[in-house]
Order: sequence, then structure tokens, then C-alpha cells
Amino acid sequence: MRINFHGAAHTVTGSQHLLEINGKKLLLDCGLYQGRRADTYERNLNFQFNPRKVDAVILSHAHIDHAGNLPNLVKQGYEGHIFATHATKDLASLMISDSGHIQEADAQFVNKKRAGRGEPPIEPLYTKEDAEAVAAMFAGRHYEETFEPFPGVIARFHEAGHILGSASVSLEIEEKGKKIRFWFSGDIGRYKLPLLRDPVLPTEVDYMIMESTYGDKSHHDPELAYKEFRTVVKRTLERGGKVIVPAFAVGRTQELVYDLNQMMYNGDVPRVPVYVDSPLAVNATDVFKRHLECFDDETAKFVAEARHPALDFKMLNYVRSVEESKALNERTDPMIIISASGMAEAGRILHHIKNNIEDPKNTICIVSWQAPYTLGRRLADREEEVRIYGETYKRKCDIATIGGLSGHAGQDLLVKYATGVKGSVKDIFLVHGEEKQAMMLKGLLKEQKMDRVYYPDLHDKVDL
Ligand SMILES: [Zn+2]
Ligand SMILES: [Zn+2]
Repeated sequence: MRINFHGAAHTVTGSQHLLEINGKKLLLDCGLYQGRRADTYERNLNFQFNPRKVDAVILSHAHIDHAGNLPNLVKQGYEGHIFATHATKDLASLMISDSGHIQEADAQFVNKKRAGRGEPPIEPLYTKEDAEAVAAMFAGRHYEETFEPFPGVIARFHEAGHILGSASVSLEIEEKGKKIRFWFSGDIGRYKLPLLRDPVLPTEVDYMIMESTYGDKSHHDPELAYKEFRTVVKRTLERGGKVIVPAFAVGRTQELVYDLNQMMYNGDVPRVPVYVDSPLAVNATDVFKRHLECFDDETAKFVAEARHPALDFKMLNYVRSVEESKALNERTDPMIIISASGMAEAGRILHHIKNNIEDPKNTICIVSWQAPYTLGRRLADREEEVRIYGETYKRKCDIATIGGLSGHAGQDLLVKYATGVKGSVKDIFLVHGEEKQAMMLKGLLKEQKMDRVYYPDLHDKVDL
């Protein structure tokens, strides 16, 4: 067999690994490469293989850097199944449809500039309609259920504990009388994340493709992080302020909602209205509610005890319409608003920030890593003034930054993950990580006498 590393090689995004087995082609993930606009368009548009010649696709989870280029693959002629867990199937359908909308808006923006330079317009990478056509091609499978993408390959999804529906993929491959046990980690989650089950770690494998996002550092305990979040919420509400949380619509938002549910149920904080103001978050929450089978035992226990659903409680309001969202601007009573985008670059969160940033009673709570030059980063850096929609605002509100809520395994768990297969594994290929992070992990594995750890380049091929 041969592996071709066509994405998330020497970088985090664009997960895409093409396996050639028995003369057939199996694609693991078809993610969108995300970076500077000028580089991304061409790179995402042009596959290094013929989509028509791919026999099957297996998708590890719904994040755009893993699923986001599927509409383009289908647009360019892929006709087979896309195997995914049932929850991923629903969540990915939603997320790529949203991505189609973003692709259209992006092309419009670029074309305005191109027109100014007298250049011809570009087509969007794919449209919302292209994305919606993909939904019918998903073939949902349960965790731990075996399936055969094509003869000679028996596949299985295992809990990855990263987002709802996330999985690692094991393959039992038979080629020319030889048997190969293969493992693709997908994105590795963490122990003790709210709602989600803990990841299943591999044991006996011959070859493994493994993510390395946080190869350089371990995270704080998520339970400590949520404790901090509680303190921030309590402090702000007690002084009559609002808590404004920019959060990614899928995953983090639902985790925070569940946590707020618990804190109000336990009487840890005053009961005030909570608003989830992001149409994608609201739709994603519906998918979560349809897939209770993915939740951990602790959530089930809470639901049984509190006698209400994890993601619905009396004070919680899901906001869909723009009118409802705008109505929040007039309100001065204490409340919690969770809204997208997660880095405060676009979306309804901008209105909430601009309306609340100049009141010292309020807190803007940053709950995830913020990319340089984003508004979220400026806030996290506690800049005195920020610009939103061309206007300058003085930052008088409190800023809280909560670390440790990442959905990715930290260094300690990555090492545990890799050393778990030490007895059997021949080669490990590190992907989905920047060089510094991957090299640190490689170094730590070397200390454990694991020498055959590689960090393939983009489009590298290896024959096994
Ligand atoms: Zn992910
Ligand atoms: Zn990822």
C-alpha cells in the first residue's frame, strides 16, 4: 500500500491523506486548507489526484479543516460513499453548507477587488448548493461497527473525544496476502471534556498517522478551566454586568451552555438569561440534541438528576432572527451572551462587543486561542482601544481569558497515545501540526526509544 500526504502535512489545516490499496484509492478526510486568501484558493481548488478515481472517502469528523473540501471533491466528479459516524454525518452536512455560504461571500469580496484591477472574476470554490448535494452521499456508521469501504479493507470508527461524532479510524488491510493494521488518529480529543466521552487510544497497530497540534505543551485541566469560567460569570453577574463570550458555534458553545446549565442548577451563580446568538450554533445544538448517544455518562447522570436536557434549561434562549439579536442591544439587565465568531472577526458577536465594551460592569470572556491580528486577540491582549466597523471604542469592560478549554489533546496525552502502540508499531507519521510542535513530540518519542517517527512533507508518498 501507499500513503500520499496531500494535506495537513507540515501544517494544521487541510487534512487529506490518500491511501492506495489493491489498486484502489481510499481518501481519509477532505479538509479545507486555511491560510492567507491568496494561497488557499488555488491549493483547495486543485487536487493532486483525480477525484473521479477515488473509490471511497472516510471522514474523521465535521471540522472544516477535515470536511470542508468535500463539496469541491464531489463537484469535480467523486461519486462514491463518504463514510462517517452518524453524528458527524449530520454535523458535517451543516458545517459544509455554512462553508458554502462563506465561499460565495469570499468570492464576491475577491471579485470586487479584481474588477477594480480589470481582472476577470473567479468562481467560488463551491456554493451552498454544491455543499448541500454532498449530504446525500454520506454513509453513517456507528462507533465500533465494522464496514468495508472496498474489498480488502475493514474499517471501524473509534471515539476520539474531540467534538461530537469525532472518530479515529482503524483499518484492517489485506493486500497480496499481507495483513496491515493501520490507524488514523483524526483529531485527538481530551479526557474530561464536558458532554463528550473520553478518547479511545490505539493499542496494536502496524502504522499510524497521528495529529500533533499541541506537541509542544500540555493543557490545564479542563475542570480547572471551567471553575475559572464560573468565577468570572459569578463576579460579573454580582456587579450587575453582562458576560459576553465569543465562541465557535460548534463544540465550544454547547460545552459552555452545558456548563452554565450545571452552574445555575447547582446554585453556583445567579439565574440570569443566557442567549446563544448564532444561527449556526443554534442549528448545531439541534444536531447535538439528536445524538445523545454520543454523550458521556456524566452528562446522562446530570440529565437524569436535574430532570431536564443538557442543552436546554429555563434561562436559556436560542436566538435565530436578526430582530431578536438586535433587541438584546436595548437590554441593560445582567445576562450572558454567547455568540460567534470565535475570534470576533465577523458575525453577531461584533455588535455585542461594541455595545458592551465601554461599560466597566461587563466582562468579555475569551475562551479559546485567538489568532494574531484578530479582534479577539486585541481584546485578549487588553488593548485600551479597539476598532469595530470603522469606529473606535474605549475598552472599559473587564477582560477574562480562560485557557485550557481546547478540544485537542495536549502534549502529555499525545505522548501517551503514541507510546501505547510502542510494542507493535513500525512507523508513525506526524501530521496536523506546525514544525515546532511536531518536532518536540518527535523528540519526546525518541526519548522513549521510538525512532521511526516521521513528519512528512506535503504530497510526500510512502510505500509500506
Ligand atoms: Zn478538529
Ligand atoms: Zn483538525
